[in-house]
Amino acid sequence: MTFPDITADLAARMPGLRGRLLANQELAPFTWLRVGGPAQALFTPADTEDLAYFLKHLPADIPVMVIGLASNMIIRDGGIPGVVIRFSPRAFGQIAIEDGHRIRAGAFAADRKVAIEAANAGIGGLEFLFGIPGSIGGALRMNAGTRSNTNPEIEGETRERFVSATAVTRAGDIVSLTPDDMKFAYRTCGVPADTIFTEAVFQGFACPVDEVQAINARVQEHREKDQETKVRTAGSTFKNPPGHSSWRLIRDAGGLDLRVGQAEMSKKHANFLIAHEGASAADIEGLGEEIRALVKASSGVELEWEVKRVGVA
Ligand SMILES: Cc1cc2nc3c(=O)[nH]c(=O)nc-3n(C[C@H](O)[C@H](O)[C@H](O)COP(=O)(O)OP(=O)(O)OC[C@H]3O[C@@H](n4cnc5c(N)ncnc54)[C@H](O)[C@@H]3O)c2cc1C
Repeated sequence: MTFPDITADLAARMPGLRGRLLANQELAPFTWLRVGGPAQALFTPADTEDLAYFLKHLPADIPVMVIGLASNMIIRDGGIPGVVIRFSPRAFGQIAIEDGHRIRAGAFAADRKVAIEAANAGIGGLEFLFGIPGSIGGALRMNAGTRSNTNPEIEGETRERFVSATAVTRAGDIVSLTPDDMKFAYRTCGVPADTIFTEAVFQGFACPVDEVQAINARVQEHREKDQETKVRTAGSTFKNPPGHSSWRLIRDAGGLDLRVGQAEMSKKHANFLIAHEGASAADIEGLGEEIRALVKASSGVELEWEVKRVGVA
């Protein structure tokens, strides 16, 4: 699948652009599931001002979406029309320790790296990020968090540590966001979908370095015990419906035996789906939809996708 090349026209409208704009770029290698078609145009901004300039000059009818580390995303096989924005670690991956046990992180900083830097600086409270394989931008959008039935010290959610964020709106304005602006809820936030986070500040607390490092290690142990860590997944496929666990609903509905093409449900964690070599996005999404139908028929509960499905089939 190839889209018409819109990059020459866009570049002509934006003589001051400093970032890189490329046509028909494959996205699958950037994703955890390793599936999906290309971006019609892929833009890598030089910095926040460059991103704002780009969005200000981008015609309003061209859709824009941002991807982080694509650990919570199925990109469909036909790819993504319009512009996909993906940051570079050099421009948006910085992490800085600030006074008062605060940590400032670029939107493309890996969650795990933020947890490591916090630990090295003797800052507690961000250990929950250690086991989440996404970026800070994705953590803000998804209100990413870690839950454990057995060990409360490894639990936490992005909203609990959030102080402020910088973002660029679709109109190209650079804005500062407070906790109220974020409207965090379970695995989502209320900021308009086309607003792009560029950095955030989090509040931790003083804690001895070896204690924070030990909690990070326990986060890792918890993951390895209960989750698939060595295969291609997108983490929890569905949100937990109020009063239910998705994995239990899927198991009780007999979903563990389902397979579509090269995609199947995990036997270790029933809410994870696994993409085997050769799986297509259609296999993975098709499996998810079969699971939803099965659970609805057996329990009456409608599962809601936690994984974002983007692009065209
Ligand atoms: C093995 C595994 C385990 C996981 N465990 C957990 C877990 O315990 N807890 C949990 O919460 N999640 C978990 N996840 C899911 C995923 O890691 C999180 O949702 C993560 O926050 C997504 O970050 P990302 O950078 O990969 O975002 P992406 O998948 O790239 O994007 C997710 C959404 O965020 C948006 N987004 C990304 N960057 C930005 C930005 N800069 N500005 C605005 N929007 C942005 C995207 O447009 C998209 O809507 C797991 C995933 C895997 C593969």
